[in-house]
Amino acid sequence: MRPDSFRPDFTPDSAFTAYAKRLRDLIEQSARTVAFTGAGMSVESGIPTYRGTGRLQSQYDSDKYASIEYFHREPAYYWNYFRDVRFPSIENAKPNLGHLALAELERRGILRGVITQNIDGLHQEAGSRKVLELHGNTRQYYCLKCGRRYDFREVREKVDKENPVHCDNCSGLVRPAVIMFGEALDYDVMESAHVWCLECDLLLIIGSSLVVYPAAEFPLVARRAGAKLAIINVDPTPIDPIVEFTAHCPAGNLLAQTVWHD
Ligand code: NAD
Ligand code: ZN
Repeated sequence: MRPDSFRPDFTPDSAFTAYAKRLRDLIEQSARTVAFTGAGMSVESGIPTYRGTGRLQSQYDSDKYASIEYFHREPAYYWNYFRDVRFPSIENAKPNLGHLALAELERRGILRGVITQNIDGLHQEAGSRKVLELHGNTRQYYCLKCGRRYDFREVREKVDKENPVHCDNCSGLVRPAVIMFGEALDYDVMESAHVWCLECDLLLIIGSSLVVYPAAEFPLVARRAGAKLAIINVDPTPIDPIVEFTAHCPAGNLLAQTVWHD
């Protein structure tokens, strides 16, 4: 892997040196690497996960704020959660070393792209261009009635004045452009993600508990098509026994040491 002029400030952690070397070897031996990321990827940016280490502790229940059925029944619940929890964690979040390292791998032509379950947009902010967002993006909003789009800033201002948030055009209910529990995933995005998994020879899985669909499925699709699997996740995952590489640690520093080394 070619060292590059761009290198963020970080102090290498000697505990990760051997892991980073093994992961780098795997990536160098591969011709078509794809990354697959979950909520753990953004923990070091200050955004909590739903499960396991880094979990969100709040009075809000993810079965409610992430459910389309509940959104229609009690939309103010989502908007309270947005105002109290989601907005403060996302507003100031910046890409961490792990996001920057994946963007750098793509820039060097080593990584085909990132398939992500995350809805925070941090991969793009880090410079990744090829990002398949399976669950949409929490920075975009739209009116359920007329389709008018709203960005994060606009809904942030509106939610302080009214709850739930309504459209300026038509008074319709405004919702986030994320896929909630009970909604279908976008077919084209899923199709592309499947193709990437079928065509890769190394799937680098970062920060996902791999217990829910479709997260649980992608590694198996890639593996069945002959790819090697590598996992960086703080907690163990159900597929640890069948992968080529596992590191149970925070991803940021390890990825940085994998990409930027002496
Ligand atoms: P998850 O919450 O089920 O699991 C996250 C995993 O990340 C855990 O197993 C944990 O061990 C690991 N982890 C925690 N800190 C880590 C770190 N620093 N480095 C590496 N791993 C770390 O996450 P999931 O599987 O992505 O499923 C949750 C769903 O919730 C996703 O589908 C996503 O749409 C949504 N979600 C998104 C965000 C976000 O956009 N940042 C945040 C929370 C939840
Ligand atoms: Zn409208």
